[in-house]
Formats: sequence, structure tokens, C-alpha cells
Amino acid sequence: MIYLDNAATTNVFPEVAEVIASVLRDSFGNPSSLYSLGIESKKIVDRSRAQIARAMGCDPSEVYFTSCGTESNNLAILGAARSRKAWGNKVIVSGIEHPSVQNTAASLANEGFEVVVIPPEEDGNLSIDGFLNEVDKRTVLVTCMRVNNETGALTDTALLAKKVKEINRRTAFHCDAVQSFMKHTTALDGSIDSMSVSGHKIHGPKGIGVLYLRKGFSLEKTQFGGGQEKGMRSGTENVAYIAGMAKAVELIGPVRKNLEHVGICRNILWDSIRNLPEVRLNSPESASPYILNISVLGYRSETMLHFLESEGVFVSSGSACSKGEKSHTLEAMCLDDDRVDSALRFSLSAETTEDDVKTAAEALKKGIKTLERK
Ligand code: PLP
Repeated sequence: MIYLDNAATTNVFPEVAEVIASVLRDSFGNPSSLYSLGIESKKIVDRSRAQIARAMGCDPSEVYFTSCGTESNNLAILGAARSRKAWGNKVIVSGIEHPSVQNTAASLANEGFEVVVIPPEEDGNLSIDGFLNEVDKRTVLVTCMRVNNETGALTDTALLAKKVKEINRRTAFHCDAVQSFMKHTTALDGSIDSMSVSGHKIHGPKGIGVLYLRKGFSLEKTQFGGGQEKGMRSGTENVAYIAGMAKAVELIGPVRKNLEHVGICRNILWDSIRNLPEVRLNSPESASPYILNISVLGYRSETMLHFLESEGVFVSSGSACSKGEKSHTLEAMCLDDDRVDSALRFSLSAETTEDDVKTAAEALKKGIKTLERK
């Protein structure tokens, strides 16, 4: 099997599964309990928090565990906007965000916020000036992803955050780093106020996320209960998955080395198919090498996807959440219907090999020869 759908989810490293099983079996205490079993669980959570903080480049006190990237985005966006509504009501969001950001921002519109959407440029990239032109003294929040999950479009969110703060230092800046964590660095040097990451995109389990909250950053909580995670995210900690996520962070390997390897694989894949007359590149040239989005004109995404599956190659037609619906990112780029309907996303991981992408390219060529054009 050649798995090239790593933006949807990744295989869980075997060592991660072992750590999870051992915590579930042997360290089942509640981290809030005062006796030794509880203290042991708390130690696991604290150790994991420190490990993840090191990888994110922040202080452990700035790391909050949640149940997933979606929850982290909801908490950051709702919490930041609501806590600033006394002095402003404008929220700025990119037009290519994941639904967990897009729909959360849309829900703020129902609460009376003015939500301004910044469309991507023709090539799929976001323009920093596009955001900055909209920031004013009423802007409570700007939210922008580091790497787009469908095209791999990369935005320098640290720079964007810095420039937003130069215009309005009270504006909160949130970054969805679910597709970039452990793949591309993002400097947490004071301008980014909150940042979401998720365990299952980095060979950890599904159902665990982290929200970075800059020390001193104020936001309203959205969940009420026993006060875990300093009251920001009540609910008994998922100790096993927290330990599993920390293990994944430990094992995934250095960002730069992985990026180099993935870049080589991405280029082999693209170079093997770029001259086919049916193939168009949808990812920006400057995109993250972890994601290559193309269209194979004349072949519906689903048809090609299932052909590739029959050849043992797993890719997607867009984001995993959209389940075959048209990609809102490609539509936001104003690509025509033929291009959107024939889109395929290859998403790589540090485990992808050169042979994997060569085989995938051959399977695609075979699909073009074998399948009937629509
Ligand atoms: N943000 C981006 C960019 C994503 O790609 C995803 C998942 O695909 C999420 C957020 C949601 O993360 P989770 O699946 O952990 O809820």
C-alpha cells in the first residue's frame, strides 16, 4: 500500500501505540487525584506538555491540551473574539481556512461580528497586504492558517501577526498550524497569540489536540467544568493520548531534514507527471512540499481516486472533511469547474519514499490511459 493521504491523517507510529496502551493499562489514575496513582498520571501529562512545548518553541505553561485541532480552533477564535467585543466587532479570516475555522468565524457573524474574508490570489497564495488593508481599530481578531490543507499554500503567519500588531496591538492573532506542526517552523515570538495543532497529522492518535496560548493573552473560555487546563479546557485529561502525542513529537524527526526529504519526493512526483497534457498544478509553486494538488483534466476526481486505490495508491480528492464535495479552497481560487471536479491531492509524510511517489506517478499515467474521459 502506498499511502499518500497524510493531510487527512497519518499512520500511528507503533511506538506511539505502545505508549498509549501502556498508559491505559498501567497509569489509569486521574491526574487531579491526590494519591500516587493520580500523581503518576499528572507527571505523564506534565512531561508530555514540556516535550510538546519544546517542539513548539514556547513555555510549557502556554500549552493547553484539547480533544482535537477543531476544538483548539473553536476555543481560540470564539474565546478571543468574545472577550474583545467591548471595543470592536471585526474579525478577519482567510478564504481558504479549514471548516473548523471557517464555520467558527461564520458563527461569530450570527453573534453580530462583522466577518471579513480575504480571498486567495489566483495562484492560491494569501497576500499579507490583503489582510493588512482590512485591519483597523475595531479589529478584534485575525486568523490565518500556516499551511493550507488542500493545496499546501504556505503563509508566513509569524510575519503577518507582527504586521497586524503594528497596526493594532490589541488585535488577537490566531494561527491554525494543524498542517504545519513538525513540518514547517512557526516562530512563537510574541505576535502570534494562539496556535492550534493536532496529534493525528504527526503520527499520533486522533482525538488529541493542543492549543498554544501566549502567556498573558486573554480569552473567554467556551467550556465549563472542573477547571482542568487552568480552567481553559475543563474535562479530565486524555492522559494516554497526551503521552502518545508527545511520543509522536519525539519520534517524527527534525523539521529541516524531513522537509528536505519530502521536497525531493514531491519534486520526483511532480516532475514525473508535469508534462502530461491532462495535468495542471493547483498548488502554488511555493507551497509546502508535503501537499501536491493537481487536476487531471477529463477525469473526475472520484473515478481517478478509486482507480489509484485499485493500484494500491491512496490519495484524496480534497480535504478529508469534504467527503467528495467540491473543494472550497479551489473554488476560492476561482478555478473553473473542470479543474475543481478533477482535482487530486497527494499528501506526503517523512515516511514517504522515492519509490512510493514513482509508483504513484506510474499509477496515475496508467489511469489516464485506462480510464474513459468523462
Ligand atoms: N485545521 C486544518 C488545517 C486541518 O487540516 C484539520 C484536519 O484536517 C483541522 C484543522 C482539524 O483537526 P482535527 O481533525 O484534529 O479536528
